[in-house]
Amino acid sequence: MDPMLKKRVKGCYDLYPRSKESWQDPQIWSYVYETISKITKLYGFEELSTPSFEYTEVFTRSSGEESDIVSKEMYTFLDKKGRSLSLRPELTAPAIRAYIENGGMEEKVSKLFYKGPCYRYDRAQKGRYRQFNQFGIEVIGVKDPLIDVEVISMLIHFFEDLGIKKTTLLINSIGSPECRKKYSEELVSFLSSKKDQLSEDSKRRLETNPLRILDSKDENDKKIIVTAPNILDFINEDSKNHFEQVLKGLDEIGVSYKIDHKLVRGLDYYTDTVFELIREDDASAQNTLGGGGVYSGLVKALGGKDLPGIGFALGLERTIQYLLEENIEIPKAAPLKFYFIGLDEECRNNLLKPLDFVRKNDASAHLHEGISIKSALKKAAQKNAQYAIILGKDELTKGICKVKDLTLREEKSIPFKELESWLVSLTGSTLAMQS
Ligand code: AMP
Repeated sequence: MDPMLKKRVKGCYDLYPRSKESWQDPQIWSYVYETISKITKLYGFEELSTPSFEYTEVFTRSSGEESDIVSKEMYTFLDKKGRSLSLRPELTAPAIRAYIENGGMEEKVSKLFYKGPCYRYDRAQKGRYRQFNQFGIEVIGVKDPLIDVEVISMLIHFFEDLGIKKTTLLINSIGSPECRKKYSEELVSFLSSKKDQLSEDSKRRLETNPLRILDSKDENDKKIIVTAPNILDFINEDSKNHFEQVLKGLDEIGVSYKIDHKLVRGLDYYTDTVFELIREDDASAQNTLGGGGVYSGLVKALGGKDLPGIGFALGLERTIQYLLEENIEIPKAAPLKFYFIGLDEECRNNLLKPLDFVRKNDASAHLHEGISIKSALKKAAQKNAQYAIILGKDELTKGICKVKDLTLREEKSIPFKELESWLVSLTGSTLAMQS
């Protein structure tokens, strides 16, 4: 047999019940999705969802041909009509495309969130996958320091709600495109004198995207960057005021932060506030949990009006891995309510009706596949079932069945005719699952 048939593609993973890699257990993912659902409701965001692929221009127009994402990491292919399509490497550009296409610009402010897989031909390693999942939000249509505060505090609140308290917020302002241009020139002249000592990537970026050198992870580059000019000395009054108000707002609600003037988002459309949330005091490359910033020009670059926005995106794999490394307790799934056991085929057939009855009354139930009581009770315990309903030949002849409370380990017999009312009596008038 072709060995490829048994293998998933490099850089990918499966989510599977009781997976050996605990972060790949779907149960944890459900917990994270529930938290996303809760937090987005609390902050008044509405969900949008876009296809996994877009016309390639959506990404080249927004991120720029020179960005790492577009130039190195995108899965691009031609469809059967020769159109260039790309698997989405991130979700902001598709979200803005959808916002424009679906009439978002007619609303004054849109508060949107999304979650789903992204694809990047990245170097596969722990925390870096070729298909990974992001959760992100965008507030489009206004630029307001208070919104920056809200968005940043929501990002932190999300992690706190999951139980992750040990994070560090890095924040910076990269000013307007004009300030950034001036700063960029200054930076290039500073770095050009040290070009020989820079990493190969940074040498290339000196020509293509000098600001990105500031967040190089290369140790030698880092030493040089420490002495580089500070972007905060180049931003104009408006940007200064904006940044001060953001910091004041964060102080007001007790959010602590570290100003990191080396923090830039490499893409042209970012302006003013940029931020990243990392594992506490740990700025290594794989430890950015999420980040975002204010942007202008992005809606316009994708064919819409000149509207500003702000957003963040975070990686769910890293979030979940961190969650487990910090030993945070994950709430268990609601237990199975009823485990039905028939000790021969006729008995199993007789259990079909009550089984159907409980499910239609919103209680979870499972009919054991075999007829051995021993393996049935073992399976019931594995599934964390609350009650076992047991029907054997003897009981069938006598018109009764056994019901067993698996938590209290108590058993009694009841007339089979009364099974439905007994099931109902367990939770009052309804069998609805308690979550
Ligand atoms: P970015 O769009 O590069 O700022 O990424 C946003 C977030 O997505 C990062 O902070 C990571 O948590 C996550 N991320 C980015 N690339 C990958 C990847 N290849 N594998 C897993 N997570 C990723």
